[in-house]
Amino acid sequence: MPTPERTDIAVIGAGPVGLFAVFEAGMLKMRCHVIDALDAAGGQCTALYPEKPIYDIPGHPAISAADLIDNLAEQAAPFSPVYHLGQRVDTLKPIDGGFRIETSAGLTLDAKAVFIAGGCGAFGPNRPPLSGIEAYEGKSVFYFVKRKEELRGKRVVIAGGGDSAVDWAIALAGVAAQVSVIHRRDKFRAAPESAARLQELAKAGQIELVVPYQLDGLEGQDGQLSDVVVKDLDGKTRHLPADVLLPFFGLAMNLGPIAQWGLNLERNHIAVDPATCQTSVPGIFAIGDIANYPGKLKLILSGFAEAALAAHATYPLVHPGEALHFEYSTTKGVPGA
Ligand SMILES: Cc1cc2nc3c(=O)[nH]c(=O)nc-3n(C[C@H](O)[C@H](O)[C@H](O)COP(=O)(O)OP(=O)(O)OC[C@H]3O[C@@H](n4cnc5c(N)ncnc54)[C@H](O)[C@@H]3O)c2cc1C
Repeated sequence: MPTPERTDIAVIGAGPVGLFAVFEAGMLKMRCHVIDALDAAGGQCTALYPEKPIYDIPGHPAISAADLIDNLAEQAAPFSPVYHLGQRVDTLKPIDGGFRIETSAGLTLDAKAVFIAGGCGAFGPNRPPLSGIEAYEGKSVFYFVKRKEELRGKRVVIAGGGDSAVDWAIALAGVAAQVSVIHRRDKFRAAPESAARLQELAKAGQIELVVPYQLDGLEGQDGQLSDVVVKDLDGKTRHLPADVLLPFFGLAMNLGPIAQWGLNLERNHIAVDPATCQTSVPGIFAIGDIANYPGKLKLILSGFAEAALAAHATYPLVHPGEALHFEYSTTKGVPGA
């Protein structure tokens, strides 16, 4: 076995809450390693909606999800977190004086405490059951849009009837050469204002609504789509010429390996003590979307507060015997900055 790396806190998940936990831990003289299955930090913000403005981050009337993540990474930087991206944490076991985690990339890390900031787990898109779709994925079928500019001038087909489908159709109208939205009903499940805007753009000829239809097949070569085939309720098919297909059928929520770590779970979430965010295993904390307690709100701002609670509760594990004097950041500044 390779020599384990060592740290005070292993943070599992580099979403907004995991990143802020690095700051909160750093302010209390605790170092972190951060592991994420995705190749980039930012969790849902980076993977699902980087260009969308968020309106409920305190102190920011509006901030794009990508800018929020950049700011959080900058705020954490003085504490020199070590990032291990593109690797999933598979095992978490107690050892003398803490915990050992092992990742899919062969990393072994020993930590005095663990923060699980795993969001909705190792999340992935719900894939439409179309034969041969794998060959197109990442080339002309995408489950997330990173930058809408990448779709400028392209013929885009969007499938789905929820917020993501409707929001992206609106965002791409006027950017893409053509936007078609396939949905199996003529009613969309999106926010009422967005659904109304979609209908306006459809009336103005900027979006084509292909309803009630569902996906039936893909045509193209070497991963490049030429047509998306759709079918109506009577089985009648239509070919939609397309460069890109964006299927938005929601996220599969799967705790993945986290479910095997012996923690008390409540419907795919980790039950925590709301005063400390400690799980049923002392020394393991859960924060952000994955944590559950009565009254939990799945919001980034709740996750930030949970990170502060967990960091304070962890202090005695990392600095045994040292009294923790509560101090404002305005009093102590940012050590190391
Ligand atoms: C379209 C959309 C719009 C939203 N708008 C808002 C909004 O306006 N305001 C708001 O407050 N919230 C909003 N949210 C919700 C917000 O994004 C989440 O509350 C937030 O991302 C939760 O942060 P997190 O750090 O807890 O988890 P996540 O952002 O989900 O990050 C968790 C990370 O953990 C990683 N992970 C999981 N398991 C493992 C493992 N075993 N090994 C390694 N890595 C692992 C995942 O890869 C992921 O990167 C929105 C969400 C969506 C989808």
